[in-house]
This record gives sequence, C-alpha cells and structure tokens, in this order.
Amino acid sequence: MADQPYIQERWSLVDLFPDLDAPEVQEARDELEKSLKDFDSYREVLAEDMAENDFLAVLRAYELIIRSLSRLSAFGSLRFSEDTQDQAAQAFQAQAQQLSAQADNRTLFFKLWWKSLETEHAERLMDASGDYRYWLEALRLQKPYTLTEPEEKIINLKDVNGVHALVTLYESITNRYSFKLEVDGEIKDLTRGELGVYVRSPDPELRAAAYKELHRVYEQDTPILGQIYQYVARDWNSEGVELRGYASPIAVRNLSNDVPDEVVDILLDVCKANVPLFHQFFELKAQWLGEDRLRRYDVYAPVAKTEKTYAFGDAVEMVLESFRQFDPRVAKLAQQVLDEHHYDGEVRKGKRSGAFCATVSPDLTPWILQSYQGKPDDVATMAHELGHGIHSLLANHHTALTQRASIPLAETASTFSEMLLVDTLLALDPDPEVQRDLLFRQMDDAYATIMRQAYFAIFERDAHDHISKGAQVDELSDLYLSNLVNQFGDSLDLSDDFRVEWVEVPHFYFAPFYVYGYSFGQLLVLSLYQRFLEQGEAFKPGYLEILAAGGSDSPERILTHAGIDIHSADFWQGGFDVLKAALERLKTIEISA
Ligand SMILES: [Zn+2]
Repeated sequence: MADQPYIQERWSLVDLFPDLDAPEVQEARDELEKSLKDFDSYREVLAEDMAENDFLAVLRAYELIIRSLSRLSAFGSLRFSEDTQDQAAQAFQAQAQQLSAQADNRTLFFKLWWKSLETEHAERLMDASGDYRYWLEALRLQKPYTLTEPEEKIINLKDVNGVHALVTLYESITNRYSFKLEVDGEIKDLTRGELGVYVRSPDPELRAAAYKELHRVYEQDTPILGQIYQYVARDWNSEGVELRGYASPIAVRNLSNDVPDEVVDILLDVCKANVPLFHQFFELKAQWLGEDRLRRYDVYAPVAKTEKTYAFGDAVEMVLESFRQFDPRVAKLAQQVLDEHHYDGEVRKGKRSGAFCATVSPDLTPWILQSYQGKPDDVATMAHELGHGIHSLLANHHTALTQRASIPLAETASTFSEMLLVDTLLALDPDPEVQRDLLFRQMDDAYATIMRQAYFAIFERDAHDHISKGAQVDELSDLYLSNLVNQFGDSLDLSDDFRVEWVEVPHFYFAPFYVYGYSFGQLLVLSLYQRFLEQGEAFKPGYLEILAAGGSDSPERILTHAGIDIHSADFWQGGFDVLKAALERLKTIEISA
C-alpha cells in the first residue's frame, strides 16, 4: 500500500535528458557520431571465419548505437506527445528521426553481410552470440527466399515506381476525399477520420448517414481502386510465390511474423467456427438499444454509459490491487513506473490523444501516457498500459535488441492485465451499469480486433486466389459481400452498400495479410486467460516466463516453452470460451430505466 495516494501528474523525462537544449543532448549526439564512426571500422573485421569474440564485439557496438539512438528519439517523441503544440519538441523529434535514418544507412552493411552469410558460418557465430541469437536468426528468416543480389536490386529498383507507387497512388486518391454530413442541420465537410467518429454516434440516423456517405464516395472510384488492388495482389503473388517460392501469398506474411502457416489456418478456422457468439452479442446489443434487430450501421453504436467516475488515486489502487492478487511482484513493477514519475495521467490541452507505453531501453523504466478522465474505460486503459510496462520490466535483462516482444506477443501482458482488472472490478463494484460498460467494452473490442480482422484475412486469402484466376473488380465486390454474409449470418441487417468496403481498407494495399496479427495477439491472450481460470496458481510461472522472454525467441518457441501448443485448436477455442462467459454474464444484467 502506498502511504499517499498517487496523483495525476505530468511525467518526468529527466531520466532521458534535462531539457531539449541541455548540453547532455549535444554530448549524446557526439557520442552517437563517435559510435557510428567506430562501427564503420568493423567493415574490415567482418568475415565468415571471424573469431567469435570479434563477432560479439560488433554486436555490442551495434547495440550501443541502438541504445543511444532510442534515447534521443524517445526524448523527442515523448516531449512531443506531452505537448504537440511545442515547436521546439517538434523540431527535436524531426531531427532525431533524421538521425535514425542516417544511422540505419550507416550500419546497413552489417545486416546485409549477416544475411548473405552461408548457413554453416552463421550457425557457428549464432551459437556464440548469447542473448543476441534470436535477433540474428530473425534477420535471416527470409534467407531461403532471397534471390541473387542483382535480382534483389532490380526488384528494389522496380518497386519504387512499381508497387510502392501504386500504393502511394491509392493513398493520394483516397486522402483527397472529402465527406459531407448533415449534423444538427448544418452540412459539414469532413475528412475520413472526422467522419469515422459518427459511426459511433448515439444517434442512429447519423450513424447510417456517416456510413452511407463513406461508401458513396469510395464507390465512385471503386473501379480504379479495385484495379489498383488487383495489381498489388498480382505483384505480391508473382514476387512472393512465383519468384521467391513461398507456398502461398499469406505465407509471405506468416514468415515475417515468424508464425507457422498451419497455425494461422487453425486460428482463422477457429474464428470462423465461433462467429455465432457475436451474432448473439449483436442481438443483445439490439435489445439494449431498444431495436428488434441491429443494422450493420449499428455495430459500433455506444450503449448507455455509466456516469460513475473513479478518482485517479483510487483507480491506481484498484489496478495495483488486481495485480497484487495475481502476483505481488507484478504489482511492484507497475508501481515502479508510478514511483519514478514515468506516468503522465493528466488531461492537458495539446497533449497527444490516446494512450501508450514506451519502452526505450533495458536500463530505463518505461514511460506511459494517458489522458485519464475517470470512466471505467479509463481504468481499464490504465491497467492495459501498466501491463505493457510490466512486460517491458520483466524482460529488461535482455539486450536492447531482444527486450521488446515481437508483434504476435506484444499485447500479451497489456490485455491480460486489463482482464485481471475487469474481473476485480466486476467483483468489487456491484453497480450494474459499470458491469455492463466493462463487459460491453470487452465484447466490442473482441469483435473489432478478433472477428472483423479474421474475416478481413479470410477475404484477402480468397481475393488473392480469385485475382490469380483473373477475377474482375465486380466479382471481388461480390466476394466481399458474401464474406460479410458469412460473417453476420442473419444476426443483423446488412445493406448492399457495404459491398465496396474492401476498397476502404488501406491495410489490404500497403501490408497484405497484416490484419490477422490483430486476431492472433488478442485471441492468444484470451486463451491464456482461460488457462489461468482453469489452472490458477499452476499457470503463473509459465505466464511470467512468456513475459520475461520479451523478444528473445520466436513466438512459437516462447509459448511452447510455457507448455502452450499453438497448433492446437482447443487452445484457441479457450479464448472464445472467455468471451462466451462474458456474454452470458451480460445477458443477466438488468438495468432499470
Ligand atoms: Zn497495447
């Protein structure tokens, strides 16, 4: 227990630098410059038969560069997040970004050399590389699919004016769109981001109007946007499958996530099998909204929110208590972030919106930013971000290159902590409105992050397949509509205007198959939570090991080590069982008008 309640304050960044123009900043830049120069001298040392100790020295020198760079960039971006109107911070950040790009270029020779090394030599050096091992291994994952140097050069060169240009064109076209919406009798001119706010409006007319306007604008360009997509997909296929030899278009992404193809197939199958759960959720949502049936326009409709608020200090105490019940050590790590004044919880003008946790380097306690406003949602967000902080601190015995969890595991501690908090709150606060808000938040998030993204990935898989067989744009729109019909069944009214939604998803263009990563990460945590509910104490050591591994091994090996088989459909099903329980609980909540 803290003697004094925690106060809502601005964070302190002095562990990074005293100020933007402090002499320490210039010293750090000079030091970085010196490290970069020193690093350059390793060019002559790199050789397939080099001594293992020399190789370790190169790795340490590289890590040193990354550490000083992270410190400078983090200071820029954290200062900027604290006050986005501060021009000095903005300039500092821009300068740090430039520095990063330069450092990248100046150290590139090492990564290129490493990737080009023959396997037997690479194995010998990796065996001697200690904690750097997985970082080195990950760099070489693409090796079996790498072409000859002249071929790679041609691809790079042609991509600039080829597929990258197509994606830029897509962005240029769609960024110019403006949307018109009548709000309170006044026609507003909106960007897509501004329009998006209205799909969550409490006013059903406004929600429908916002979607209709979104689709109206994109529909006018669907022939051309769809054509761009066809080129992007064909390019992905001809490069990835035909030239490099990947087994399928999605396999290209799976390898960069370091997740086996089979696991992704199982994940998507389990998602498909559980879609009826969300049909029930939509039916329940319709009831709360006083409708017979939901329209697709109402999927993100807010349910009435409780007026209840929690003071910052009380919220911290509740979150810490939920952590303590799990494991006192975990609570201590969260406390460390607050005790060191690394938590910016204030609401201020000019502060960056949203919330995040920034891991800078293993020797520094991470920083968290949130504009805490006291709603149950805010308390859940606090637990989420502190979870990230715990993850980072548990893994701080690794190097700067292996501390951070890779994408599939990045949300493990954050979402898990949120679940712990929700369970504590549900037990502590009998207020049905608070309970409903918390459970709705859980289901809404699960829909948007797990189910919607899984169906996106299923569409991408089908679309790439159809395109390789010569499908026209209209057929792709039909394919998308049938994907939605499969997803929603007759749980809601799906209007035909949604058939163009696929050309509205930028991820399909700039990062094919990226979206399933969201489903993977979120469902993984729910499945872990189900294990915790089943196994209690016995679950904890394995879970803490997963977190402590950070990014020091492949997601699969980290999980296998903790006794989890991601090839098993049963494991993934556990995640949906947690949601099923949340839904059942939601159904029993009675709120008097
Ligand atoms: Zn997060």
